[in-house]
Amino acid sequence: MERLLEIKNLRTSFFTHVGEVQAVRGVSFHLDKGEALGIVGESGSGKSITMMSVMRLLADNGKIVEGEILFEGRDLAKLSENEMQKIRGNEIGMIFQDPMTSLNPVLTIGDQLMEPLIKHKKMTKEKAFERAVHMLELVGIPSPKSRMSQYPHEFSGGMRQRVMIAMALACEPKLLIADEPTTALDVTIQAQILELMKELKQKINTSIILITHDLGVVADLCSRINVMYGGLIAETGSTRDIFYNPKHPYTWGLLNSVPNPKNLVKERLKPIDGQPPDLLKPPAGCPFAPRCQYAMRICMTHRPPLFEVGEGHKAACWLNHKDAPKVEAPIRRGD
Ligand code: SF4
Ligand code: MG
Repeated sequence: MERLLEIKNLRTSFFTHVGEVQAVRGVSFHLDKGEALGIVGESGSGKSITMMSVMRLLADNGKIVEGEILFEGRDLAKLSENEMQKIRGNEIGMIFQDPMTSLNPVLTIGDQLMEPLIKHKKMTKEKAFERAVHMLELVGIPSPKSRMSQYPHEFSGGMRQRVMIAMALACEPKLLIADEPTTALDVTIQAQILELMKELKQKINTSIILITHDLGVVADLCSRINVMYGGLIAETGSTRDIFYNPKHPYTWGLLNSVPNPKNLVKERLKPIDGQPPDLLKPPAGCPFAPRCQYAMRICMTHRPPLFEVGEGHKAACWLNHKDAPKVEAPIRRGD
């Protein structure tokens, strides 16, 4: 497998009038070509900020404080804004939760689809038109030609999300980053969009990073999962390992809110009791400790390293230390 993206010890902070909010606190992971990776966690876990750092789309007070973001060997953390503009929407496509924030309300869908093709791919207007129509067809928009001259508000929510996907994929990016792409949609359309992403992954061989708070959403599309908590990776492994051999109490909590593995797409996470840590004053020990029923004394004072618990499977929890008490994962399986 060829490496597409390698993130090494990424730290991203926001500098506010009350101090430094350490949103991402040392995150490392990789993505191979053609692979789909899920990043799962509650809001505030650092999952979106990690990917906004990759895209270099942080708010003005946000800064990559440390680390490398190697995309085909180039460190995106060091590129100029000019160089990043050639990568965004071209080599890396993005889909966000709310398409209305990314679609321009005063431009037709056709113009918005054609623009990157003319700009990045140097297509003629005619060629770009053809390609745009083809993309709309590919994402299942009926009578695409007549839809080209319509504006975003003339599309339903699900259709707008399809347009977003068409736009993100028009330049055949090597990487597609989808941040909660289905959260705002009803379950039927949500399932259709995920199915569509899966199909497109096979057709175009795009690598995908899918960010979601919903563990059920990643099961079908992604072969590997990073579970994030408090600006750190809590657990990383194959989708199989995460679902059937999880080694972190936070993952156990996430799984127990997905009752039936056969019905994953339709289930939503129930929140785990308690609050995520305040990243203005991140805890010295395990960030999950205040909410963890297994917390030991060491958990309060020392941050657990990512213990290797299997091939390509790591968990940042002291329970995986060789001298720790043996705890059976309390996973309630669906019937
Ligand atoms: Fe719980 Fe300790 Fe493991 Fe953190 S390190 S998840 S507090 S047992
Ligand atoms: Mg988010």
